[in-house]
This record gives sequence, structure tokens and C-alpha cells, in this order.
Amino acid sequence: MKTNIVLLGPPGSGKGTQGEKLGQELGFVRLSTGDMLREAVRNGTPLGLKAKEYMDSGALVPNDLIINLMKEKIASLEEGTGVIFDGFPRTVEQADALGSQIDVDLALNLDVDDQELVNRLTKRRTCPKCNAVYHLAYKPPVKEGICDKCGSDLYQRDDDREETVLNRLRVYRDNTMPLIEYYSKKGTLKTIRGLGNIEEIFDEVRKTVL
Ligand code: AMP
Repeated sequence: MKTNIVLLGPPGSGKGTQGEKLGQELGFVRLSTGDMLREAVRNGTPLGLKAKEYMDSGALVPNDLIINLMKEKIASLEEGTGVIFDGFPRTVEQADALGSQIDVDLALNLDVDDQELVNRLTKRRTCPKCNAVYHLAYKPPVKEGICDKCGSDLYQRDDDREETVLNRLRVYRDNTMPLIEYYSKKGTLKTIRGLGNIEEIFDEVRKTVL
């Protein structure tokens, strides 16, 4: 079984949803740089204060900040813990830094076309407390506006508004898409079509990991 898994794919491709399910099923830790950064912004930490402006515009937070954040996280894990990286690495420099710390044995790329990504992101709603994600049409919460898991009020991330979404897709294409070739050359890339229902996609994800 693969134990260090990188989830690749554009924003809205389902990395968070699939990563969370996979983490639960396998007992792996899911490390999401986006969740960590949003928490840092909410708590007003030095990292949050530095990251906020980049995040609001859909730009990438500078590599050195992210690499340091992840280095500390990885170092704090118990040995032998399976890890799912969600939203990291997003640049070749980050991928090199990760590779110098651990062996990535699977880079799972979720492939979804742009039109569907825009639809997913602009209708996404997120829980600020437990980071659960919903979609107004595909995966609505049982009670409108309320998180099924922890009861908090859901919100729309600022960067899920349409103008910012288009910029995030451009940033993905310029900075993160090269990682598909990067991991392909290392022989660890697997691509899955990320369209269809969440359970069907998860079946494919599971087959690739086990
Ligand atoms: P996400 O929740 O993964 O879509 O990330 C939200 C935002 O956080 C991104 O648009 C970036 O501004 C920032 N971010 C998250 N992960 C990274 C990363 N690995 N490198 C740089 N910026 C990141």
C-alpha cells in the first residue's frame, strides 16, 4: 500500500473531499496547506498575516513560508504515519523540498475540466471550524447553511468568488501543472478522471492506493 500520497489537481478537483475520505478509511493523516493557512489567518498569527493578501487574490503564498510550515508538520508526525498531502506541493521548488524529506510513493492527479471547476468552486460552501466542504447542488448540508458535522455556520471562502477562481486556475496552470510531468518522470503519477459522483471517484482512488 502507498503511504505517502500527494494529491495533485486544480482547485475544485476534489482533493479535499477525496483526501478526507481516504484519510478516514486508511487512518492516514491529511495535511492540507490551505486549511492550515486559513486557520493561521483566522488566528492572526505571523504566518496568517503574511499569507492573507496572497490568498485573497488567488496567488500562491511564497515557497519559503510553505516549505517551513510543512517541514515542521512532517517532523512532528509519528514515524510510520501514512500521509496524504492536499494542496502541497504546488511548485517544483516545493516538490523538491518534500522529496528531500520523505519519499512520495504516489502522486494522484485528479483531472477535471475548467468549466466544471468553476461550477464547483463558486457553489462551494465551507465550514470554518472543521473544514468540511459542501456544494449547493451536489452535496448540500442537511440543514441549509449549517455544517452537518459540527453545527457551525457555513461560509463562502473569499477566494471561491468567480473573479478569484479564474485567477487560481491560471496560477495552477502556470505553477502546479508542471508537477504532473515532474511525478510522471519519477514513475509515481496516476491520473484519475475526477468527474461523476463522489463515491464512484473514491472507488477509483481506493483502487489506485491499495
Ligand atoms: P487551497 O485550500 O488548497 O485551495 O488553498 C487556498 C490558498 O492557500 C491558495 O490559493 C494559496 O493562496 C494558498 N496555498 C495553499 N497551499 C499552498 C501551497 N502549497 N503553496 C502556496 N500557496 C498555497
